[in-house]
Amino acid sequence: IQNPISRPEIPQELGENIILTSLNDVYDWARLSSLWPLLYGTACCFIEFAAMIGSRFDFDRFGLVPRSSPRQADLIITSGTITMKMAPALVRLYDQMPEPKYVIAMGACTITGGMFSSDSYSAVRGVDKLIPVDVYLPGCPPRPEAIMDAIVKLRKKIANEHLNERGNFQQAQRLFTVKHE
Ligand code: SF4
Repeated sequence: IQNPISRPEIPQELGENIILTSLNDVYDWARLSSLWPLLYGTACCFIEFAAMIGSRFDFDRFGLVPRSSPRQADLIITSGTITMKMAPALVRLYDQMPEPKYVIAMGACTITGGMFSSDSYSAVRGVDKLIPVDVYLPGCPPRPEAIMDAIVKLRKKIANEHLNERGNFQQAQRLFTVKHE
């Protein structure tokens, strides 16, 4: 948003009453100020995410309002282990969220498979093989303060992107074929 006072063609008496900006900047500002996360948790990381909702950490001040329906959410924080059996459900939830939508991968299990990455037959080794990740949040588990930091990073990313840069994540782009029996 430009400071109108610095623009000489605007009379001084109007300078404090007019803000010049682009529609895209207003849209970005509105998006980053009202991220609505889907209530989604599959393991112990979700306990830390749930703590964020309480009054102690008060993440409502960021404009975050937890939603139970993916159709009302534009952010998913994948908190917990993603299993092969859960993978199709996660992809389906993501597909049901309207664009533009964002993903924070929370915790070692979500990012790499964590303690299950070496010899588990059932854990997905990285949620980014299923859906695109905007911010990686490492830890086991990350504390609520770290979740807030990830949200601040996501807000900065939204503030600096053009809406046209975000496209649909097509089925064909998925790097990983999920076998679900
Ligand atoms: Fe649990 Fe740690 Fe895995 Fe989070 S990263 S789901 S706390 S084992």
